Amino acid sequence: MNQLGHSQLGVISDSNTAKFCYPIIEKLLPEGHKHFSFAAGEANKNLNTCTQIWEWMTGEAFDRKALIINLGGGVTGDMGGFCAATYKRGIRFVNIPTTLLSQVDASVGGKLGIDFNGFKNHIGVFTEPELVLISEIFLETLPHHELRSGYAEVLKHGLIQNANYFSCLKIQDWENQNWREITEKSVQIKREVVEKDPKESGLRKILNFGHTIGHAFESFYLNSEKHLLHGEAIAIGMICEAFLSHKKSGLPKDDLKSITDALTEIYGVFQFPISDTDDIIKLCSQDKKNEGATVNFSLLRRIGNCDFNITAATSEIKEAITYYQTLTSQVPSNQ
Ligand code: NAD
Repeated sequence: MNQLGHSQLGVISDSNTAKFCYPIIEKLLPEGHKHFSFAAGEANKNLNTCTQIWEWMTGEAFDRKALIINLGGGVTGDMGGFCAATYKRGIRFVNIPTTLLSQVDASVGGKLGIDFNGFKNHIGVFTEPELVLISEIFLETLPHHELRSGYAEVLKHGLIQNANYFSCLKIQDWENQNWREITEKSVQIKREVVEKDPKESGLRKILNFGHTIGHAFESFYLNSEKHLLHGEAIAIGMICEAFLSHKKSGLPKDDLKSITDALTEIYGVFQFPISDTDDIIKLCSQDKKNEGATVNFSLLRRIGNCDFNITAATSEIKEAITYYQTLTSQVPSNQ
């Protein structure tokens, strides 16, 4: 990191990564570096915390050659990166992602931002970090349900781009595997897609497989007792959208069964009243990736091959959610 020629060095973490991850890197950093920590959680990925971060940077008199290290999950990376990319019209930053989700997803692709007035990632910019440093050592302290949440994005990478990768990913005993190999392969897949379409005008949309219906579930249950982590919601979304893929894009029935079996084995089946379905569908149509009144999906032609910009009618989305609802749970869906 010394080659980056910075004037000052600042580390941003949240309260958990300050405890579990900062001690791992602290001794490797130059004396005199500064550290700022904010309260962990998506609820703090907002303008108030940004104000605190910008006040800290200003108080430490960081100049335009200062370098920021974002040490944490997607919340820290998105918000710390956003603060760096806008402070004095932009200073450089390095990401050290510490959750599986941020290692394979949030740290790649340059999307930075914060939530605003109840809308997720509503304010933000595209800016690339100078460097992303990934180590499986951080996963050792990550709670099991957070690891499982990140694993949904890993499974998605196989489903949209690489059938062999999907077939090699462990379903039974998935917690015990070579995370270094997995993060390397998943980052490679995401990077290849993003490099071809950095601003999401076409191909990058395939990364949204499972996310149209998944985000709707995530938002609907956000403030309820049934609160879902991002990856848990995406797992539901991937099953529903695999069903839509079967109906609309020719995904073979056997592939639909493999996807359903794998995801229900790991995530179980989320129990919810069928009467919530109409409101969940309404949230699908508010997805910010839609254009006009139609709901846009990225759907699989087969495992490892994904199309984008496929529209579905409300009745088809309802059928997909009903398919999910009638599945039988194999493991408890809550952590
Ligand atoms: P997170 O940053 O909130 O981390 C999840 C939890 O794990 C937090 O409580 C955190 O403190 C804790 N934690 C992190 N690392 C730890 C460690 N090594 N040991 C113990 N605890 C640890 O959430 P996340 O799941 O990493 O990321 C979700 C966020 O990422 C969302 O805000 C989402 O919008 C964003 N995201 C961004 C992109 C992108 O392209 N920029 C992509 C996907 C998700």
